[in-house]
Amino acid sequence: MYTITLLPGDGIGPSIADAAVKVVEASGVRISWETHEAGMAAVEKYKDPLPKDVIESIQKNKVALKGPITTPVGTGFRSVNVALRQEFDLYANVRPARSFPGLNTRYENVDLVVVRENTEELYIGVEHYIRAEKGKHTAAESIAIITHHGSERIARYAFEYARQNKRKRVTIVHKANILKYSHGLFLNTAREVAAEYPDIECTDKIIDATAMQLVLNPNVFDVIVTTNLFGDILSDLTAGLVGGLGVAPGGNFGYDVAIFEAVHGSAPDIAGKNLANPTAIILAAAMMLRHLGELKPAERIETAVRAVIKEGKNVTRDLNPERYVSTQGMTEAIIGKAQD
Ligand code: NAD
Repeated sequence: MYTITLLPGDGIGPSIADAAVKVVEASGVRISWETHEAGMAAVEKYKDPLPKDVIESIQKNKVALKGPITTPVGTGFRSVNVALRQEFDLYANVRPARSFPGLNTRYENVDLVVVRENTEELYIGVEHYIRAEKGKHTAAESIAIITHHGSERIARYAFEYARQNKRKRVTIVHKANILKYSHGLFLNTAREVAAEYPDIECTDKIIDATAMQLVLNPNVFDVIVTTNLFGDILSDLTAGLVGGLGVAPGGNFGYDVAIFEAVHGSAPDIAGKNLANPTAIILAAAMMLRHLGELKPAERIETAVRAVIKEGKNVTRDLNPERYVSTQGMTEAIIGKAQD
């Protein structure tokens, strides 16, 4: 029996988190969930988007499953997602993108993983206005910090990940041609780490060329290691290569805490409509089970998800706008397959 923190989150969060809990329960792994509110729900109740009991619960349990949390755009509180990553020093964000047979997408056999640095660069939250004219802000400055320590540990994580998961190549993605100091440091440090892994092929690529290559021929990529903002953008792109945000899971890893979540956000446009695809968070829950060493149940869940998507009869609207079922409908189909 594991005790795990559950943050259902905002928007579509509670309905997909509920789906993930049901699928994990059906897989036979016994979990006692400690459910806490964070984000908008917590602001309404406690006037705090990240109450202390959330931090204490994760600190104690070391593992959490998290629904998406809304961040106000351009104003309001800072991102709870970023705050959690910083609080627990979750420096590695691992976002796999793997094609689903039977799903109508542009590419087949995509199987890559984006390893995103998760704590530094433009996400350190240091920004301010630097000029005002006639009572109006007219210039702002955002500071991006990249350190040797941060670059070294994320590069090492990526190469270790490649080795452990029998992957052949790591591509370091950067913008060191323009950002010669910050991205130069990232690239040079990652190259130093690469030299310690002669069994893994290492290449490096500028972000713009990477974006073009990913759209032209994603199959050339295996593991991508990159900085925080590029990782954020590229992992939405790679989700799009294999069926969209509804199917893209992720894990945030630190030294002793891990938080699993979907790549997508709270999807306010479909919240409350029973249209949310539960796949991303269900696959994130399977990543969580792997992290706990529950390999067989994790594999059963992943196989069941793939079988339901391949069959195409019980999928949500994002996967088949012509013929679709509700969030619960897809969840029940996945549970059915997992118990076959
Ligand atoms: P989003 O990822 O919520 O939605 C983008 C598009 O994808 C929308 O059209 C949405 O309907 C669709 N989509 C997303 N998840 C889906 C699913 N499971 N099934 C079907 N369709 C799905 O991005 P957004 O609208 O830019 O952001 C909404 C909010 O979420 C913002 O406040 C943002 O800050 C936050 N956000 C949170 C996280 C997180 O919690 N880790 C990540 C990204 C965005």
